[in-house]
Amino acid sequence: MHRPIYLDYHATTPTDERVLAAMLPYFTQSFGNPASTTHAYGWEAEAAVQNARQILARAINATPEEIIFTSGATEANNLAIKGVAESYFSQGRHIVTVETEHNAVLDPCRYLETLGFEVTYLPVQPDGLIDLVQLEKALRPDTILVSVMAANNEIGVIQPLAEIGAICRRYEVLFHSDAAQAIAKIPLDVEAMHLDLVSLTAHKVYGPKGIGALYVRRRDPRVKLAPQLHGGGHERGWRSGTLCTPQIVGFARAVELGLVQQEAEAERLGQLRDRLWTQIATLPEIELNGHPTQRLPGNLNISVTGVDGSALILGLQPFVAVSSGSACTSAKVAPSHVLTALGRPERLAYASIRFGLGRWTTAQEIDEAAERAIATIQALRQANR
Ligand SMILES: *Cc1c(COP(=O)(O)O)cnc(C)c1O
Repeated sequence: MHRPIYLDYHATTPTDERVLAAMLPYFTQSFGNPASTTHAYGWEAEAAVQNARQILARAINATPEEIIFTSGATEANNLAIKGVAESYFSQGRHIVTVETEHNAVLDPCRYLETLGFEVTYLPVQPDGLIDLVQLEKALRPDTILVSVMAANNEIGVIQPLAEIGAICRRYEVLFHSDAAQAIAKIPLDVEAMHLDLVSLTAHKVYGPKGIGALYVRRRDPRVKLAPQLHGGGHERGWRSGTLCTPQIVGFARAVELGLVQQEAEAERLGQLRDRLWTQIATLPEIELNGHPTQRLPGNLNISVTGVDGSALILGLQPFVAVSSGSACTSAKVAPSHVLTALGRPERLAYASIRFGLGRWTTAQEIDEAAERAIATIQALRQANR
């Protein structure tokens, strides 16, 4: 079976064989419950979990006690936002976030609005970056949390976390960041960036699906967090549920491997992405979505005038696996909330594509993808004429 070229690495990534190899012994041999303290099976599993915790902590300049394992970034975002809201509501009920956040941040915020919290959704500039002056103006005496993602999953735009963190610290407001797309791709440092909570996930960085983590600062300040899953008191009461040792081991191995090659891979992917853009940009009426340089090296998001969104994705689908950057409902294709926030108009004959490049993307694949995209766009434009 001929399968399309995979350029949807922002949606998920294959698990690296080396990650899988590290995980396997923890299914069948070292299968103990890390919470079992009375025998060697438990101790072995607990040692593996602690080692993983250390690796992940080091990756973001945190300490192992500050890492809480979750089922992924969705759960980590929910725990961070709802957990802070529940712990700090007597101090204030105002939260600041951004229009271009992932739904795993926006939906918990909208849910909190139904409980009486107020949320400010900051707009972004046409390049996808937030305006720091606007952020500062949005802060109020009753603001308890600012949540701004590290790197956007659609347009790849990297927000200035260190500057945002400095502002939050100055106003003594907690700072959370969804770093699902950023970990082991761009530098993350909870100290330098003044981060108080950080959401992570394994499956965007060549680890397994179903495992993630929340970093929670323990000192200066010590963040209070109300658990959202109650039970056996795992993870110091913050997240109950038996720890999935194989997933945790795989997560840490994936991050470890990603860090080793982070810079070189960023360089390689940046070049491939530019190679793709240079070829596609030879067509008229193609726009780049998001900041040209302040973005993930493996991300290219474009808007194409003169073609129908669903027709373009349909035409590409046998050859290139990409995401449309649009939310398809039964009747029409509407631009995503991220593209809408950039000020991209909702109009007919307008399509957007997100190309996500990753570890196994080759120059040959990029050239073929560019060729297919150009041919499909030209054919559709011809037909519309
Ligand atoms: C993928 C993604 C999520 C969701 O992560 P899961 O681990 O799949 O729950 C959240 N935020 C961003 C920015 C993402 O890219």
